[in-house]
Amino acid sequence: MLGGTPSIAGLECPRCRSADLDGHGGRLECRDCGSSYPVLGRVPVMFRDALPVAGDEPDTATIHQLLGALGLGSASVDALRVRQMFRRQARFGDEQLRVESVQLLDRVRGTGHSIGGAGREAEDAPPDADAAAVPRYRWTLDYVPPVLPRAAETMANLRFRNTGPVAFRHRPPNEVKVHVSWFDESGGPVDAPDVRTPLPIDVPPGREITVPAFIPTPRATGRMQLRLSFVQEGVRFLHDDAKRIPVRVGDAPDGPALPAGWVWNEGPRRSYDEDHRHAQEALKRWLMPLRDRRLRILEIGGNVHPMAAGLANVDLYNLDVDVLGLQLGEMVHRRDGRDVAFLCADAEDLPFPPAFFDAVVMFATLHHFPDPARVLGHVATRVRPGGFIGVLCEPVGHIHPGAISQEFLSELRKGVNEQSFTASEYDAMFRRARLRAEEASIDVDSLKARLVPL
Ligand SMILES: [Zn+2]
Repeated sequence: MLGGTPSIAGLECPRCRSADLDGHGGRLECRDCGSSYPVLGRVPVMFRDALPVAGDEPDTATIHQLLGALGLGSASVDALRVRQMFRRQARFGDEQLRVESVQLLDRVRGTGHSIGGAGREAEDAPPDADAAAVPRYRWTLDYVPPVLPRAAETMANLRFRNTGPVAFRHRPPNEVKVHVSWFDESGGPVDAPDVRTPLPIDVPPGREITVPAFIPTPRATGRMQLRLSFVQEGVRFLHDDAKRIPVRVGDAPDGPALPAGWVWNEGPRRSYDEDHRHAQEALKRWLMPLRDRRLRILEIGGNVHPMAAGLANVDLYNLDVDVLGLQLGEMVHRRDGRDVAFLCADAEDLPFPPAFFDAVVMFATLHHFPDPARVLGHVATRVRPGGFIGVLCEPVGHIHPGAISQEFLSELRKGVNEQSFTASEYDAMFRRARLRAEEASIDVDSLKARLVPL
């Protein structure tokens, strides 16, 4: 029945951490602090600010295509359930979560199924007639290494938010490009080539994206300041919001080096499905040494089809922000007699006690988070000593102008937080989370890493 409340072992109130949760009337209520969480189609939505809202219902044909894609046939009772899922949805506070949580139909389409009603992509912003409004921004993260080689053209991921009133246009006229420059320790300019990086899409006010930017380094060596900024071509430099970071220019390897101990497997490239199957095998192998008891595993981002669902003797928790996907997945798995706990919650605020899981795994999920290191740092607190975090099928390499795929671009335009990191950037990310890769391999451009505490 809709609104049935499954009991999920270990589940805590994210507000007060009490495990005393009472399910009734389509809600989970915390007996300690009184917080209340919606339960949609047996999936608890464990966000502090989640509100049930009325959603748009797709047409009948789309619902039947969706049922077909999930192997559910076309029984009218199922069609009714799916219709109800669309009608009663959940809304959270964060814009990025909101975008990630409404990608269900696109994801099913992405697996090769024909589903009506194409996803919405952002249009390019119209040119600002007099360019009077000054674009504003804030650098939120950078992946610039602390040491860079001299006289080289390096690249690093930079992340910024448009904090101003106008869009950052990516096409002429008045397009905005990343602009970097160098200063010595006393603040004097240091000569380096002026290579500007175009943006892949228009960035509207409030949007945050990650861009791999060219960072040409000076011939001179020593301790320097790298200024990260923007230029609005033909109009002005945008140095008011620039950020300076310390970088030592000197002897460092030029080009993407593989972190120590990592293995790189040169092609041929596997298909998406084959790569995921390969990752499932790696996960089975990693779990082997822990097999002295029934395992408790959290999969983050498993959506309709959690990749760890086939594992024997495992209590699987599947966490995602796509409430529709979770409800459909719950329906499919329950029908197949597979016991998986589906829940909607924040991976940066997990509603479970510390050291609760034997392993936390993510398949092609980590790179979608605005700050992957922050997520890993939090997730690590929920893994028991001797357990691990499995990061699987993560894209490796910079997607930069000229090499950007239509698929990647289309995701960006829809507002999805697409990013791709180099092996060194992943390595730095893991270290920032106080983790290290005990095993890491890259199959062409797909990372599989078993992370343990530093
Ligand atoms: Zn509470």
